[in-house]
Amino acid sequence: MRYSQMFLPTVREVPSDAEVISHQLMIRAGMIRKLTSGIYSVLPLGYRTVKKVEEIIRQEMDAAGAQEVYLPAVQPAELWQESGRWSFYGKELLRFKDRHMRECCLGPTHEEVITDLVRNEVKTYRQLPRNLYQIQTKFRDEVRPRFGVMRCREFDMKDAYSFDADEKGADLSYEKMFKAYTRIFSRIGLTFRPVEADSGNIGGAYSHEFMVLADTGEDALAFCSGCHYAANLEKAEIAKPGKVDPDPAQFKPLESIHTPDVRTIEEVSAFLGVTPQDIVKTLVFAADGKPVAVLIRGDEEVNEAKLRNYLGADSVELATDDIVLEVTNSPKGFAGAIGIKADVYADYSLMNRINVVMGANREDYHVKNANLGRDFTVKAFADLRIIKESDSCPRCGKPVRFARGIEVGHVFKLGTKYSKAMKATFLDRDGKEKFMIMGCYGIGVGRTVAAAIEQQHDDQGILWPMTIAPFHVMVVPVNVNDAKIAAAGETLYRELEEAGVEVLLDDRDERAGVKFNDADLIGIPVRVTIGPKSLAAGNVEMRIRRTGETRTIPVGEAATVIRDIVMGELKALNDPNNGHPR
Ligand SMILES: [Zn+2]
Repeated sequence: MRYSQMFLPTVREVPSDAEVISHQLMIRAGMIRKLTSGIYSVLPLGYRTVKKVEEIIRQEMDAAGAQEVYLPAVQPAELWQESGRWSFYGKELLRFKDRHMRECCLGPTHEEVITDLVRNEVKTYRQLPRNLYQIQTKFRDEVRPRFGVMRCREFDMKDAYSFDADEKGADLSYEKMFKAYTRIFSRIGLTFRPVEADSGNIGGAYSHEFMVLADTGEDALAFCSGCHYAANLEKAEIAKPGKVDPDPAQFKPLESIHTPDVRTIEEVSAFLGVTPQDIVKTLVFAADGKPVAVLIRGDEEVNEAKLRNYLGADSVELATDDIVLEVTNSPKGFAGAIGIKADVYADYSLMNRINVVMGANREDYHVKNANLGRDFTVKAFADLRIIKESDSCPRCGKPVRFARGIEVGHVFKLGTKYSKAMKATFLDRDGKEKFMIMGCYGIGVGRTVAAAIEQQHDDQGILWPMTIAPFHVMVVPVNVNDAKIAAAGETLYRELEEAGVEVLLDDRDERAGVKFNDADLIGIPVRVTIGPKSLAAGNVEMRIRRTGETRTIPVGEAATVIRDIVMGELKALNDPNNGHPR
């Protein structure tokens, strides 16, 4: 491709409305342009990378036995009403009526459509398993679209759906997708981790998110320094401490203390001269509307997702002032476990603790030396808090580390949530009617491109991995008005193209500095400079974008040497053994 012919509008200034680096660089490198809030046009340079990402996805999905389909973007409301999501989904679902006043939506995801398709065609166990996927436009009407294509409203996604006859088959389908995803992100050249994710409380369900590690990532994840355990912070488990039965002889007498207007942990610890660790926080939640109390150490925070999963509730939220008053007989700030009118659950952090400070369930009062067994009871101890970097791994006990990441893929064992709601059944071997067991598997295509940039860039621009670089090589004749230089550029361009290398020839009549800046910005992995001095000596100069390493190569050998470098990198990334989280 000739730069002079290419629709490649680069921008020198950082766009003022772009908060994150990938958004800035995609605008500046002429990859995307904003049409309206959260909706982007993809320009030729950007689309070359998008198509490469899609191709890697297709190859690995096909290799894993999935088959490509193409499902409609417009979906009828009836299917969503059947699954129960029409009322549940909220304003993210863009709804509209057609000319016959039939309610429709633009698909934010395709579980309903695919389940409808498969239930109509698959009748017996002999037709299972099935895994169907597509790469297609989704629409989610985000309240606050931001970060460019990272959180936009219209985007391309690869989504796959598996249907199995039994749990064993469903687990195998999941494992195949897990491996395919590991291959996909390895081939794209990303450093990533599959992390255990919260899957809500669908029975028999579990899920992993594939996170590209980047300091700018919006998700926080915890991973073990000693083993493969990794989880997002919502899900990350905390090891259960050993239980020691406390000796009641050590229990001090319960004291009630007047603490006028002293409510927060900071106020209580200052007033009583104790540390937050000495205080037990009592939080009242409404779990599906029913009040429950959670006891947790003063310096810890309750993880509401863990609480929701533990209770098997659909929703958990902090109780209103009215409910707090009802179960504790006091306004907020003085809740405690003694005499509370709700089921009490305690976080592991309180195991083995004696003589604690807590609210007295009486306005302006706290108690000292409260003890489990003597003064109050709990229904159970559980892992209910948000993990901290000082916690230890639930699997091996080694210290946990935190990192930031960008979610680019998600594999999810759905179980029978949709097949039950939409009656997707089949006849098994014994002629019995059963529900299909489903899995769903997504990859955000644009998000993957943006995540690659977030992870791999420098002050000058993008550092593309070879497999998804829009071009492999950029040939830069520094002065196209010099006939010899221009001719050498044309020759190398032709030779490389003939050798199967994708080349961008910068044939613009521009200063060398402008050309070099653009080359660095758009991040083509190999740049070849043809300048008057080196050419007079019979050489060209090659520079590796990522390392800055330069090499002088005789003109006659240039095409071969450069082809070998490009093909070597492609081969290393596409190698069948390259399939491990890094
Ligand atoms: Zn571990």
